[in-house]
This record gives sequence, structure tokens and C-alpha cells, in this order.
Amino acid sequence: MTDRALSSTPQSTEDETIIVGAGIVGICCALSLIEKGAKVRLIDRDEPGQGASFGNAGVISPWSCIPQSMPGLWKSIPRWLLDPEGPVAIRPGYLPKALPWAWRFLSQGRPERVRAVADAMATLNRPNVDLYRHHLRGSGHEDLLHDSWYLHVYRKAADANLDDLAWRLRVEQGAPVEALSGDQLREIEPDLSADYEAAIAIKEQARALAPGRIGQVLAEQVRRRGGAIQRATVRSLAPRDGGGWRVESDGDALAASRIVLAAGAWSARFLEPLGLRVPLEAERGYHLLFKDPGVALRHSIMEVDAKFVASSMEMGLRSAGTAEFAGLDSPPNYRRARIFKRLTKRMLPKLNTEHTDEWMGSRPSLPDSLPCIGEVPGKPGLFLAFGHSHYGLGMAPATGRIVADLVTGTPPNIDLAPYAIDRFAA
Ligand SMILES: Cc1cc2nc3c(=O)[nH]c(=O)nc-3n(C[C@H](O)[C@H](O)[C@H](O)COP(=O)(O)OP(=O)(O)OC[C@H]3O[C@@H](n4cnc5c(N)ncnc54)[C@H](O)[C@@H]3O)c2cc1C
Repeated sequence: MTDRALSSTPQSTEDETIIVGAGIVGICCALSLIEKGAKVRLIDRDEPGQGASFGNAGVISPWSCIPQSMPGLWKSIPRWLLDPEGPVAIRPGYLPKALPWAWRFLSQGRPERVRAVADAMATLNRPNVDLYRHHLRGSGHEDLLHDSWYLHVYRKAADANLDDLAWRLRVEQGAPVEALSGDQLREIEPDLSADYEAAIAIKEQARALAPGRIGQVLAEQVRRRGGAIQRATVRSLAPRDGGGWRVESDGDALAASRIVLAAGAWSARFLEPLGLRVPLEAERGYHLLFKDPGVALRHSIMEVDAKFVASSMEMGLRSAGTAEFAGLDSPPNYRRARIFKRLTKRMLPKLNTEHTDEWMGSRPSLPDSLPCIGEVPGKPGLFLAFGHSHYGLGMAPATGRIVADLVTGTPPNIDLAPYAIDRFAA
């Protein structure tokens, strides 16, 4: 913290809502707040949309409702951890910190619990394609979103089973799914390996052609509609005597009556000094971008065995996934990204694997796969919008709408209990 920030009288932005974090969640909050007539200031230490929101797999599915912790998942974890190319890794030194979180996470995987989580996930995801189209309208970049299916591809036909709980949950939520043979799959995606015996398609969804650029374009929409975007590292949030909040940063200190905390995986750090503990974990994911792939995909593809998603984007073909537990601050281990070279080549035999880019980002993950959304009880004016784990691109627009309602005093017409921070009390 600079001396100047410490000693200064806070710059009054009393009539503004300050949003800490300009990832896709913060940006969508800003757009919806502006629509409701609010004045907003988005603050980020980086350019907008460059955190986890930059490098994700680009899946935008109204039907996304399957929590990460499903019944029986624990049985696969030892095998995944032992496999150097497996989808989960824990840095040995981080094990003592990761284990309590992992325990809470696994204990969510009960059949009755996953149904309730599926409902709460579906509520946030259902309007996502329409809301992105709405936010992109007039930007000149509407083509950053493509209509798409989500093809889950299977090496063994017997594994493509619509009776599995995950598929039943999707169907219960109204997802338009269709089982495909290997031949039907290759008619749709001719570059896929002949090894895939079957697929299940989820239809009527979208994919982002450049998730980071969607963030930039929507941030530009915020500016165009009168919102302020400020580059600063926020150090702390503190209640002010007489009401409102003080935001300390490496720039001027700011005062505001309402704050939206949308700092992704970093959000818990602002809450601890306020006496609020949330089990927020940095679930680190990686991607490998094949810049000159020589093959193309029409849809988002989930490699079910290896648990990664491949998608053609404007920069090339991106394979993204893996969950690494190593804390927020340890350096990336790009071997986790390079795993995708062999796995994607196996999936797309004609793929050109020269010229690649590697990326790591931290998913903000809570044990029940649901975010924290809402005003903090006992802390008027502090609103939460973080913890969207594997689904933040999809859940961001509805989160923005809910936050805008809450901040402007309109009761949202959904049950907010599943997203309340006090579900972690005890
Ligand atoms: C490999 C991978 C694949 C994924 N695939 C998908 C997918 O296909 N579909 C989907 O829906 N989701 C996907 N996700 C999840 C999704 O990307 C995240 O849930 C989402 O990006 C979270 O958005 P956010 O705005 O909360 O966080 P972020 O994008 O991380 O934004 C948080 C922002 O807060 C800022 N910040 C933090 N601390 C400070 C500070 N002190 N001062 C100022 N600014 C600060 C950061 O700079 C950052 O810009 C994927 C994630 C990964 C890693």
C-alpha cells in the first residue's frame, strides 16, 4: 500500500457502485447495473477479462447443471492422481491445505444434494446465450459467439449411457440431448479419430470464439455506456464510520456506498480481514493453443475419458481443462498444459502440434460448485459475485442481472439461498 493511499481522504465515488475485479463476472455485473441506471466503476489490476476468463474452454451452455462433485467420483481420484497425464494434480507441499477442501468437496457428492445443486446451477446458466447476445448487440463483434453443440465423445459405446445420473439430470433440466454412433459423430466432426465409438450431443448452446476478447469487447460496451474502468491493485475493503465502504488500492483510496466483490479466486482474501471465511480454492486449469492446427472442430468437444474440452477458436484450436491444487501464488507448471499435446493428437490424428501457446488460470472454486451471490448479512453495501468454478463464463450474465437487482433494491425473482455466503457457516 502506498503512503499516499494510506493517508489520503478517500476520493468520493459515493454515487457509484465499485466493482472489484473485471473478469467476465465483474464485467457482466457492470453491464446489468448500467442497464438499471446505476453508475459503475470497475477496478482491476490488469486489463479486463484477462484472469480465468481469458483462457477457458469457451463453453456457454444453458444446460450446464452437473456439479463437479458427483456420487462415486472419489473412486476415480486415486487413479487420476497417480497418472501424470490425469485430470487432477495436487502439489505435494499443498496437500495439507487441499485436503480439508477436498473433503468438503467430496461430501457434496450425495444424490439428494446434487439434484439441489443442479437446480441452482441451471437457474444461473439457462439464460446465458440470450444474455450474451444481448450484451454483444451493437458492439460490432456479435460473431464472437457461435451456435454450437457440446459433443461428449466416448471411446467405448457402452460408456455413452443416457441412464447415468449426470445425463438424467441434464434431461430433467430440459437439455436437448441426442445419442450418436461413431459414424454419425464423424459426419459432424470429420477430423475426430475413428477410435470414438459413440457420442452424446447437447444441442442448442453456444461457444466463444475468443473468451478473452469477449471480455474486452464487453468492457468496451461498459465504457461506451458511461461506466468507468480503472486500473489499480485493490489492497483492502473496509467499512466506513457512518456507512459505506473504503477501497484501499495502490492508487487513490475510494469511498463508495456499494461494492461488488468479483475478484474471482482472489475474493476470499478481501473477506478474511472482515471476519468472513469462505472455502474458496484456486482450482488451477491450463490450456494449450495449437496456433496452426490444420484441422477444425464445428462444436465444443468433451473428451470424456481424459476430461478436457477442445474447441476451434479464432486464434487456433484450444484444448483446456485439468484441475491442479497448488494455491493461488505458486508458479504455473506448464507440463500440465503440454499434456494436451499428446491427448489432443490422439483425438485429432491430423492435428499439427507445432506452434503452441500455454496458459494457466485459477478457477474460483467453492466445494458445492455454486458461487456466492448476494449482500453479506450484517455488512450493508457489500455484495458478492465470485466462486463460479468451472462455469463462470456461462453463469456470468445471470449473476450480473441478480447483482444489479440486489444493488438497486429490486427483489430478484429467484431463491438466492443456494448462493448465500452463510451456507458455509458452521
Ligand atoms: C481451463 C479452464 C477452462 C474453463 N472452461 C470454461 C467453460 O468452457 N465454460 C465456463 O462457463 N467456464 C469455464 N471455466 C471457468 C471460468 O473461466 C471461470 O469461472 C470464470 O472465468 C471466472 O470469472 P471471474 O470474473 O470470477 O474471475 P477472473 O476472470 O479470474 O477475474 C477476476 C479478476 O479479479 C482481478 N483481481 C484479483 N485481485 C485483484 C486485486 N487485488 N486488485 C484488482 N483486481 C484484482 C483479476 O485481475 C481478474 O481480472 C474454465 C476455467 C478454466 C481455468
